[in-house]
Amino acid sequence: MADKRTEISELGEFGLIRRIKSNFSIKNASTVLGIDDDAAVIEAGDKYLLVSTDMLLEGVHFDLAFTPLKHLGYKAVAVNVSDIAAMNGYPKQLTVSIGVSNRFSVEAVDALYDGIKMACEAYEVDLVGGDTTASVSGLVISVTILGEVDKDKLVKRNSAKKKEIICVTGDLGAAYMGLQVLEREKQVFLENPDMQPQLENYSIIVGRQLKPEARMDIIHELKDKGIVPTSMIDISDGLASDLFHICNQSGVGATLYEDKLPIDEQTYQTAGSFKIDPVTCVMNGGEDYELLFTIKQEDFEKLKNHPDIHFIGYIQVQDKGINLVTKAENVVPLQAQGWDHFHKS
Ligand code: ADP
Ligand code: MG
Repeated sequence: MADKRTEISELGEFGLIRRIKSNFSIKNASTVLGIDDDAAVIEAGDKYLLVSTDMLLEGVHFDLAFTPLKHLGYKAVAVNVSDIAAMNGYPKQLTVSIGVSNRFSVEAVDALYDGIKMACEAYEVDLVGGDTTASVSGLVISVTILGEVDKDKLVKRNSAKKKEIICVTGDLGAAYMGLQVLEREKQVFLENPDMQPQLENYSIIVGRQLKPEARMDIIHELKDKGIVPTSMIDISDGLASDLFHICNQSGVGATLYEDKLPIDEQTYQTAGSFKIDPVTCVMNGGEDYELLFTIKQEDFEKLKNHPDIHFIGYIQVQDKGINLVTKAENVVPLQAQGWDHFHKS
């Protein structure tokens, strides 16, 4: 029916991606893994080649009122490196495509590329190409990254098994709270341009929003300890949504413990002052770019004293669902759309 119109919101982002995927089949034997994971996996001799792409749009992903271009350049690279990390791989090359309007000066483009260069140095990646076009609708940055992984070290989302331990790096919810602070200070400034933004007390969370790091340090450490996670994803949409990806694709359930969730003191305090439940920031905040992974129980000993890896729960059979055990020991099902604050009883 040519006239049928379906709103994208009816499908949601993931429904839309599933719909696109269902219309394509893999034709080349060299395509090991297509749409579904943090990166595509392609045969490349002794190793696998990893490919991932992420686009940042002004007004959707960043607000230039409070985002320095240098930080934005760094972030555009870091979020792509994070997807390679999530496959247990190592980033090698990237291309950067930009759409810029005449609102931008050469110096502004220089600042953006200063940040891109800093990230290329930090993550040891080579900028090997891209595309430059005029834009009529703000700044667009699209990065495609190539990485590699030893064939026996590849980690996907779909391979978590019952009884395995769920691990997360760093702390969660900080980038989301950082964004809340930046948006509040922007409003204050718009109402009274003489007011200077008050950000000193929020340096950790604002830094996490503006200049996130990909956890390549963890990928190197896991390698040194001889640990290959059984499944892995990077947390870009919030713990709930990203754990759902692991569980649904692996055909398993999970139990998380609220008292094990890593939340930085500044995130916790700021969430309190905004009257936001810190657990909501963790579950639904997003943009943390930490790694969520599962390990076999026998690997726990090797990681248990790691200062930046937290053990937040375990994998169980699918029928048990995906639940959070609250501090009050209530068992609350996580919602497919993420954490539903109002289900907390
Ligand atoms: P991530 O958050 O890790 O970047 P996404 O949720 O963006 O992952 O994407 C999930 C999967 O869907 C990936 O394999 C990605 O390559 C694929 N994908 C996303 N958008 C499209 C699209 N428009 N066409 C084809 N594949 C897509
Ligand atoms: Mg990802």
